[in-house]
Amino acid sequence: MDGQTLKAGAVAAAKHIKNPVTLARLVMDKSAHVLLTGEGAEKFAVEQKIALVDQKYFFTEEQWQRLQSIKDQEKNALGENRDVSSAIDKYGTVGAVALDKAGNLAAATSTGGMVNKRFGRVGDTPVIGAGTYADNSSCAVSGTGHGEFFLRMAIAHDIVALMGYKGLTIEQATHTVIKEKLTNLGGTGGVIAIDRAGNIAMPFNTEGMYRGYALGPDGKVVVEVF
Ligand code: ASP
Repeated sequence: MDGQTLKAGAVAAAKHIKNPVTLARLVMDKSAHVLLTGEGAEKFAVEQKIALVDQKYFFTEEQWQRLQSIKDQEKNALGENRDVSSAIDKYGTVGAVALDKAGNLAAATSTGGMVNKRFGRVGDTPVIGAGTYADNSSCAVSGTGHGEFFLRMAIAHDIVALMGYKGLTIEQATHTVIKEKLTNLGGTGGVIAIDRAGNIAMPFNTEGMYRGYALGPDGKVVVEVF
C-alpha cells in the first residue's frame, strides 16, 4: 500500500506466484482493482508477464514437518481445544514498512497463511486495513499473527486511526491495539510500524517475533527475536 495516494494492491489464494508482493504492486499500478484472488490473480500475472512456478518450488522440509506436527496436535486435541491455531509455529509472515526521504510511507506483507488452514481460507495479510495499511498522515503497518483476529479488529487500520483521530503516538497506538485490544480478545500476533517522522514500534504478544530495522542508508541494522 502506498501511504501517499492510499492506493493499494493485493492478491490472495495464489498458488503459483513466486513473489506475491510484486504481483500485488502490479494490481495496484496496472489494474482497476485492489484485491484479486486465485485463478483470476494468476491470469492477471500471466497478462503482466509474471512467470508462474510449479508448486514444488514452495516445498521445504521444515514447513512440511511443521504441518505434520500441527496435524498430529489437532488430531490429539479434544473438543474446543481442537483448534490449536494460536500456536506460534503456525505463523510465517514477512512484512516490510518503509519511509522514504520525501516523507512517503509504504507497507507490504506476504504470507503462506497459517499452517494447516482450511480450504479457501483467506487471512488478514491481503486484506487492506487488517494485515497491511499505510497512510502518510500517520503511519505504515504490517502485521503477523492469528489472521482471524486481525480481520475482525481491522488491526492495521485501527493503529492508523488511533494516531489520526486520537493523536496517539505510534508507540501508544500500537501498544493499545496489540498489547491491550488484541490481547484482551484472546488473539496473538504483532506488528511492525513506522510513522512519518521515522519513529518505529514493533510490539507483539507472542513469545517472539523476528524483526529488524535500519534507519537511513548508513544506519545500523538491528535484528531482534524476543
Ligand atoms: N497472519 C497470517 C494469517 O493469518 C499468518 C502469519 O502471520 O503468519 O494468514
